[in-house]
Amino acid sequence: MQEIGHWINGQHVAGTSGRTADVMNPATGEVQGKVALATTAELDAAVAAAAEAQKGWAATNPQRRARVMMKFGALINEHMDELGELVSREHGKTLPDGRGDVQRGLEVVEVCMGGPALLKGEFTDDGGPGIDLYSMRQPLGVVAGITPFNFPAMIPLWKMAPALTCGNAMILKPSERCPSTSLRLAELLKEAGLPDGVLQVVNGDKESVDAILDNETVQAVGFVGSTPIAQYIYGRAANNGKRAQCFGGAKNHMIIMPDADMDKAADALVGAGFGAAGERCMAISVAVPVGKETADTLREKLIPRIEKLKVGPYTAGDDVDYGPVITAQAKDRILGLIDSGVDQGAELVVDGRGFELQGYENGYFVGPSFFDNVTPDMEIYKEEIFGPVLSQVRADSYEEALKLTMDNPYGNGTAIFTADGDTARDFAHRVNVGMVGINFPIPVPLSYHTFGGWKKSAFGDLNQYGPDAFRFYTKTKTVTARWFSGIKDGAAFNFKAMD
Ligand code: NAD
Repeated sequence: MQEIGHWINGQHVAGTSGRTADVMNPATGEVQGKVALATTAELDAAVAAAAEAQKGWAATNPQRRARVMMKFGALINEHMDELGELVSREHGKTLPDGRGDVQRGLEVVEVCMGGPALLKGEFTDDGGPGIDLYSMRQPLGVVAGITPFNFPAMIPLWKMAPALTCGNAMILKPSERCPSTSLRLAELLKEAGLPDGVLQVVNGDKESVDAILDNETVQAVGFVGSTPIAQYIYGRAANNGKRAQCFGGAKNHMIIMPDADMDKAADALVGAGFGAAGERCMAISVAVPVGKETADTLREKLIPRIEKLKVGPYTAGDDVDYGPVITAQAKDRILGLIDSGVDQGAELVVDGRGFELQGYENGYFVGPSFFDNVTPDMEIYKEEIFGPVLSQVRADSYEEALKLTMDNPYGNGTAIFTADGDTARDFAHRVNVGMVGINFPIPVPLSYHTFGGWKKSAFGDLNQYGPDAFRFYTKTKTVTARWFSGIKDGAAFNFKAMD
């Protein structure tokens, strides 16, 4: 049984609370580790030490901080397979997906290697007579990252890399379900040259999160997780005077126009709907074909693709399409939602409920499910299922499909498949969703753009990573300077003769 503690002041320390959470192996249902859950006192001590360490780090010039990111990036590449496996071991996703999780985080580290360019201030020469204005971006101090289970490498990297590059110290509170990757990343950052105390990984649950939100030294909170918790954290952090960006859940729609390439649309839906067992905030969970013929054709193309998906543990090799869901509770919840879809009149075309895998009977596997004729009043439409379940909602027109997408309370990602540039352009312009794909099902922007949803998918006004992250993790100071006429205008230093 692995004992998982915290990473404080550059070393592993055991927890002192006596409280732990089980870290499961989702493929077998066995407990594989016990992670310590920090007390408020432990969290406060980690923050106090971080505040001390931050002073020297902030005084380290940006180029040198960026060099730590260069070394860190090299070390992540060197340890890619190991980190990918660490992700898969606790999360359950396939090995290629585990490495993908690391890769999409690494790309943010790569942008941070050029961080000094994003930290430059602005300058106005002669804004008034003899007056210049300049602004500088200064670190906030100690900031916090609170991250979800579903991307154990990527999201901690999205938080820590920009925050540290800006000269802050960070308290990272990873998901208690998948804590080990963050601890390994902290070791690699130390090896890359990050001073002790600048990154503290504090494991915990609600108690440590609340301690972060109430700690007066913590200046900003970057959260990713479910919508109710995002909203709670945003409110409490803001109430305590902190800067907060809180990213929440999703219900991502993909519109399929009659002129779309149906094979490509079906392939895209299967990958985006069932990849990582549907446990992605950018998963497509709702397909919206426009017109009866489109819907019927799409359905016929989807069924064989979904039925042939291979579900299994990450250890079974690279041809597994997706693994188990994260917990027994998540599995029960997903199965319950599928039951509700049947009860409420949706047509369950592919039924994943009875799925079993020999030798893994206690694992949290859910077979792929596909519903047709789903309507917006059903639970399976209203809830973020966060499992391998795709719903098809039929629309009669483009306007109806667009309205459905826009009326949904979530606004993380969306996509349209069409051969018509005019329709695609209209969709991208009008839809009230933060990230839009055109013939592209999971439009996670590259790391030098920024990531963020709208509506109930995000609380706060700046996105994560890219230039927005550099704004979020710094405060702007603007100086207006005037120098009165000086030595160049004839101040005299010789003795004056008496008149
Ligand atoms: P979660 O909200 O349960 O947990 C996220 C974090 O909050 C964890 O660190 C957890 O310890 C903490 N937490 C949980 N309950 C808390 C409480 N009552 N008080 C204080 N802190 C609490 O989310 P999850 O199940 O780990 O992750 C899945 C969710 O995250 C999905 O809804 C998914 O859509 C969302 N997500 C969103 C994005 C995005 O960028 N928008 C990205 C990934 C995941």
